[in-house]
Amino acid sequence: MAKSFASFGFRPELMQGIQDLYYKEPTPIQEEAIPLILEGKDVIGQAQTGTGKTAAFMLPILNGLEAGKRDIQVLILTPTRELSIQIAKEVEKLGKHLDINVLSLHGGTDIDRQLNKLKETVHVVVGTPGRVLDHMKRGSLHFGRISTLVLDEADKMMEMGFLEDVEQVIVHTPSQRQVLLFSATMPDLVKKLAHRFMKQPPHIKIEGKQKTVEQIEQFYYVTNQSDKTDALVDVLEQEQPFLTIVFANTQVRVQQLTARLQENGLSAQALYGDLSQNKREQLMKQFREIRFQYLIATDIAARGLDVEGVTHVINYDLPNDVESYIHRVGRTGRAGQKGKAISLISPRQKNLMGRFAKATKASIEERILQAGRHLDAGRRQRAEEREAHFVELRQQQQKEQKKEKDKEFAPVREALKKKAKVKPGYKKKLARELDELQTKYEQNRKKAEAIAARKAGKTVKPAAKKAGKGGAGRPAKGGRPFQPSAGRSNGKGRG
Ligand code: AMP
Repeated sequence: MAKSFASFGFRPELMQGIQDLYYKEPTPIQEEAIPLILEGKDVIGQAQTGTGKTAAFMLPILNGLEAGKRDIQVLILTPTRELSIQIAKEVEKLGKHLDINVLSLHGGTDIDRQLNKLKETVHVVVGTPGRVLDHMKRGSLHFGRISTLVLDEADKMMEMGFLEDVEQVIVHTPSQRQVLLFSATMPDLVKKLAHRFMKQPPHIKIEGKQKTVEQIEQFYYVTNQSDKTDALVDVLEQEQPFLTIVFANTQVRVQQLTARLQENGLSAQALYGDLSQNKREQLMKQFREIRFQYLIATDIAARGLDVEGVTHVINYDLPNDVESYIHRVGRTGRAGQKGKAISLISPRQKNLMGRFAKATKASIEERILQAGRHLDAGRRQRAEEREAHFVELRQQQQKEQKKEKDKEFAPVREALKKKAKVKPGYKKKLARELDELQTKYEQNRKKAEAIAARKAGKTVKPAAKKAGKGGAGRPAKGGRPFQPSAGRSNGKGRG
């Protein structure tokens, strides 16, 4: 089995493209698929995203391309426009030294611009089935001379209801073309499609851990739904990631989360299906250029998104199926770099997490969030306001207590002043006398209080008597010791 790209006998220009991308050695799917594709066989490659499957079919195709021919030689069908753009980019990079043209045809862009491009020589067309069929019906495209047809993420195309479109496109290609079908799973529709249009294709299945997933540290935190956003902010503070993709399951949630992270001063942008194609491309470009750090996205919008430097993928919502989990996780750890995949889950979702761990043959451990750190900006501000209010209240009460005490001890201080005129050396004696005076003062004060109470028809409780002893512990008039509950009731309006 081949262990190096050189052993495939690729053209020097193609080897240069591989070197430019720093691919050191072929991945397992590349090792197995490339020799078969070079032989001209139809091939079924069952492999998930992140395994290097695009280069697995693209390298042998590019090796056989004839730049001098004016006809379209390769058609690649993909389920989404993002994946289409992604593949076109990869073809451009790998074929940089081959002098070939690639065109991505997908919905959401100006069809006239695409038509103009088609007037030039195009060697490779990548596109979604709908838009490709559109061009075929207009007569602006024909695939009568293609040598290779690729059906990428075939299961996804079937899932999205593209079966008829795909079939219509295939029947307009020459019967001698080579067909390469790549799919993460093999549902019946995909098997039927393969049976109908492929010639005894060898079936390559890449099982086990994906090369890129090995580089990804996966773990999760258990949190309640109501604390999740705070937990997310906490995780981001803790991790200090470089580029991060946060996945949520609905557009609304994506928008809400983006707003919340922006409130917390984080540079976040939302990517979801309803955005215009232009806007989506613009956002992806900005993310690649690191103009913002946090991309909050739904699955569909992020399909095929391949950005180097994504250090963290966070599942704010857990996906429902293993394939989506693997796809999301595969957005980090690209091109052999290290990455982290973190999920925020409810206690009930532990089982699902276990299924993902089994499917990815990875250990996905539970970690504990440091409590209290995950306050969002709004809550943090309110808590700070409350605390400031308590402090202010405490200071005010202390001032009042001091004032009251000063007033009560005025006679003592007067006496002290008089005694202070006596010669030094009598300090100890003075201190003793001051003590006696204070005690006497307290006794008199209590007596006066008891008399006043009797006059008012009340009796003085023994506990109050006790508290008065020695002058300490008695709640001063208008100067109650600080009680948080008192503060809270005062601060209600603020919190
Ligand atoms: P794919 O499975 O096609 O989505 O590819 C996953 C990622 O692996 C892409 O970022 C590729 O550029 C990268 N890749 C493909 N082949 C190799 C290789 N032989 N060595 C290192 N990275 C690769």
